[in-house]
Amino acid sequence: MKSAVTSKFKELYGEKYGLYFSGGRINLIGEHTDYNGGYVFPGAIDKGIMAAVNPNGTDRVRLYSIDYAQSCEFGLEEADKPEFQWARYVFGVCRETIKRGGKAGGFDAVFAGDVPLGAGLSSSAALESCFAFAINEIFANGIDKVELARIGQSTEHNYCGVKCGIMDQFASCMGKTGCLIRLDCKTMEYKYFPFNPKGYKLVLVDTKVKHELASSAYNKRRESCENAAAAIRRNHPEVEFLSDAKRVWLEEVRSEIPQEDFLRAEYVIGEVQRVLDVCDALERDDYETVGEMMYQTHFGMSRLYEVSCPELDFLNRLARVMGVSGSRVMGGGFGGCTINLVKDELYDDFVKAAVEQYKDKFGHEPLIYDVQISNGSSRIE
Ligand code: ADP
Ligand code: MG
Repeated sequence: MKSAVTSKFKELYGEKYGLYFSGGRINLIGEHTDYNGGYVFPGAIDKGIMAAVNPNGTDRVRLYSIDYAQSCEFGLEEADKPEFQWARYVFGVCRETIKRGGKAGGFDAVFAGDVPLGAGLSSSAALESCFAFAINEIFANGIDKVELARIGQSTEHNYCGVKCGIMDQFASCMGKTGCLIRLDCKTMEYKYFPFNPKGYKLVLVDTKVKHELASSAYNKRRESCENAAAAIRRNHPEVEFLSDAKRVWLEEVRSEIPQEDFLRAEYVIGEVQRVLDVCDALERDDYETVGEMMYQTHFGMSRLYEVSCPELDFLNRLARVMGVSGSRVMGGGFGGCTINLVKDELYDDFVKAAVEQYKDKFGHEPLIYDVQISNGSSRIE
């Protein structure tokens, strides 16, 4: 990727550039907790976006995307929004930098990526974070990394039509090699935890399906959570978000809310606690407990929150049967990947079985991605 980016840059724009990288992300545990004011537990990965960037002294941006083999040029006023979707991410980052009082002048850039698009690894956050970081550096704006993450998030909201939370951009900007980040979505407090699973691999199995229910179901889940929180709040006014509630407080309102809302809330309250339990386990280097929590999350997402699907449940069950240490659906559900914590000696057999048996059952092969927890946005020499 590095030589492709730098040689194309030299061909198009010249010898002088800075080289920047931002990763996609995984989330080890803490799913559907963000909008409930709970914890998420992501990390940046070694697959990401790499860009060669250099200011050009004009008020125009000239971009070349290696993966789309397209170039795009645009100005920096609000009215200059480019046609290509991929260029809007960069345009949005420029505009959001300017809105925050930073400078974003003209520059030339060539970029490429190796995050699979739309697989739940947040290639878009990698793209935004890479350019937010690069622009901040070349124009010496001095914006801190948390705000760079917000620039990426606002780009999604205002220029790409995606009302996302902060997790993806936060992980992509703030990631550290061998660390996951526990982020409190209510307060934005965060803490790094070591994640060095010696003797294990982190493997994603991509179902390559995306069931259409996702967005309507998402809204219904949010409603259920708000209902449950409101009922608990009548007894415990300090409950602002569902994540503030104790399991016994939910029990008190069992007969006052629909069974469905109860189950959704049961999952969320359990999931918030599981993030804390996983953090404790990591501090003891206890990866078997981490894995067991992942299975519990999968069970909760499948049976209580009901956002799984046959493909994900199949892969989860296969992992369990084969003795994989941990496995669960990653992301919102209804498709995408499972994330698996697999002992080195089991890796080959697991991958082979997942590919073969999934194909037998569903008619197409899943994709396998190995990931390492890596540094977030950075300049590479
Ligand atoms: P994801 O879940 O991977 O973030 P999105 O649909 O949010 O999926 O973002 C994918 C979009 O981000 C692509 O359609 C493209 O516009 C942009 N993008 C991601 N990676 C690249 C890349 N390597 N080169 C150009 N554009 C990219
Ligand atoms: Mg995205």
